Amino acid sequence: MEATEGESDTAERSLIIVAIDGPAGSGKSTVAKRLAVALGLEYLDTGAMYRSVTFAALAGGVDPADTDAVAQIARRIEMTIGGDGTVLVHGVDATTQIRGPEVTRAVSVVAANPEVRAELVSRQREWARRRNGGVLEGRDIGSVVFPDAKLKIYLTASPHVRAARRAGEVIDLDYGTVAADLARRDALDSGRRHDPLVRADGATEIDTSHLTIDQVVELIAGKLDD
Ligand code: C5P
Repeated sequence: MEATEGESDTAERSLIIVAIDGPAGSGKSTVAKRLAVALGLEYLDTGAMYRSVTFAALAGGVDPADTDAVAQIARRIEMTIGGDGTVLVHGVDATTQIRGPEVTRAVSVVAANPEVRAELVSRQREWARRRNGGVLEGRDIGSVVFPDAKLKIYLTASPHVRAARRAGEVIDLDYGTVAADLARRDALDSGRRHDPLVRADGATEIDTSHLTIDQVVELIAGKLDD
């Protein structure tokens, strides 16, 4: 039997969900991974799911803007998102390719597709229910996926700091290219019609520009004790 809305709300509150949202380069992944270890929870990088669908579309010669074809890929895709960053798409290691420039360029178009979002949001909820909770990071975790999460965090950092962090992670792109890509993705992710990047109601905003990872993790862990 399908749960009614009231029942599912209650079920959701009994899960221990930590929602970490924010733009690219705000420190989400590093902080979410550390926090999950500290809390003994599993960690899910939901951006890797949108990247995997984008990778599968490009690999199959499908135009990322072809909404019906990409939605079908999202519904059929088999993906394993490891807590260590390893990603398998249809059983094949795609860890490196999903972070490459082609996928990064196209992912925001795929993520604006409402049918893709519906499918991935449903998989994210299922992932957490099976584990009785977890630390999930993305753009819409506290606003859409788990609005009743136990703790909601919105991480930010100045555009310069975020671009410098990302430029330090990639070897083949210079600062200017990375900064331009981040600005473009920020605009697409914040301006889209479906589930845009926003600070969720009740989320604590932390500007990580001048904080170390340890300081951010400590701040968030402290909130859970409150
Ligand atoms: O986090 P990451 O930068 O890898 O995410 C890649 C893209 O996936 C984002 O730019 C955004 O378009 C999309 N995304 C999303 N909702 C999420 C996670 C990621 O729309 N929950």
